[in-house]
Amino acid sequence: MRASCADDFDAEALLFNQARQRILDEVTPVSGEEKLAIRQGLGRVLAEDIISGINVPGHTNSAMDGYALAGESLSGKSLETFEVIGTAYAGVAFEKSCGQGQCVRIMTGAPMPSGTDTVIMQEHVEKTNEQQIKIDCAQHRPGQNVRQAGEDIAKGDVVLAAGRVLVPADLGVLASLGIGEVKIRRRPRVAFFSTGDELRSLGEPLKDGDVYDSNRYALYGMLSRLDVDIHDLGVIQDDPDLMRDAFTTAAEIADVVITSGGVSLGEADYTKTILDEVGEVGFWKIAIKPGRPLAFGRIGKTLFFGLPGNPVAVMVTFYQLVQPALEYLSGKKNIEPFTVQAVTTEKIRKRPGRHEFQRGILSHDEQGQLIVKKAGMQGSGILTTMSRANCFILLSEQQGNIEVGEQVTVQPFNSLI
Ligand code: AMP
Ligand code: MG
Repeated sequence: MRASCADDFDAEALLFNQARQRILDEVTPVSGEEKLAIRQGLGRVLAEDIISGINVPGHTNSAMDGYALAGESLSGKSLETFEVIGTAYAGVAFEKSCGQGQCVRIMTGAPMPSGTDTVIMQEHVEKTNEQQIKIDCAQHRPGQNVRQAGEDIAKGDVVLAAGRVLVPADLGVLASLGIGEVKIRRRPRVAFFSTGDELRSLGEPLKDGDVYDSNRYALYGMLSRLDVDIHDLGVIQDDPDLMRDAFTTAAEIADVVITSGGVSLGEADYTKTILDEVGEVGFWKIAIKPGRPLAFGRIGKTLFFGLPGNPVAVMVTFYQLVQPALEYLSGKKNIEPFTVQAVTTEKIRKRPGRHEFQRGILSHDEQGQLIVKKAGMQGSGILTTMSRANCFILLSEQQGNIEVGEQVTVQPFNSLI
């Protein structure tokens, strides 16, 4: 007898980690890069290592408004008098050299005058007159309030590595090196469509048994937050000829094709059969909940993900399996998910057999301890639970019921959902 979606053991199903690895093994990062102004590079994948041609800061300089002097002249314990020999401003070289018993009035960012290595904050000196100050030497240590040349970035450092997604701070770092343009990987092209005779577009009336096509909207939302070019191909009826055409057209324009629906064993579930005809099926059953039937394969060079139809299963399988593939495809490195341990405040029902991704709400109690509870009913059609959740509660294949107070592994949502 074939296993149905309600069974928890299925000898043919791949384990989640195996499936994820098999998918990643099929992915080769896109080739092709473009040179872009750094502002246009925000959120995109860097295609080259950025090596600094300069020290940042370029000069040893003052971190404060105050008085620059030689640290060794701070040896005394009591108030010491210093002669002020001039003022050093940011962006202006200070020509004179500072000797014994002397200091220089200095502004934040000004290069340290020759003979000085220490800055006393202006609030910490006693001003006798314009030419003279007194300092309580016991209160200060040599070398303080000075930014060393190259302390942020040294010439020759790899500042940003290829495969990094540029964040706002990186634009600042690049600018601080005087770099105005960088090489960026081209975006992967993703085509997606929904399948199902019962699906209606927004604005159409619903007849008995119809549902609005929500998967295309949730997929659009998640894809929009990834570094990919999106091609929305609409809804395709459960008709083998139409589906065959749609599969091949999509594969011609995209690096990745994503469909939803039609992967179960029902009469009108053609996704896997047609993938087999026009391409190759890699695997189609994974021991996960939700989302066990998922047809992964290729059409020519194009990767194909036939996601399930149920709206929560679509989001979970996209997040857990398609997202890493797209990130890897776009050239991104470090795609391992971030997880934390939290104490559950509710009993969680779970039968051993499948890896479950329950939708949860992560927060902390008054002591700062991370706690988690379920975000609502866990059915694979209950999309409002997904919308309310802020994390997945990850329950491995072997795990059974979890009691109140036990620790569970939690994966906080990233900015995708
Ligand atoms: P299927 O995998 O095609 O058997 O679909 C499983 C369930 O998901 C059915 O109840 C479908 O009506 C529903 N479903 C499939 N596609 C969509 C969609 N695009 N939007 C909303 N629900 C869908
Ligand atoms: Mg269907």
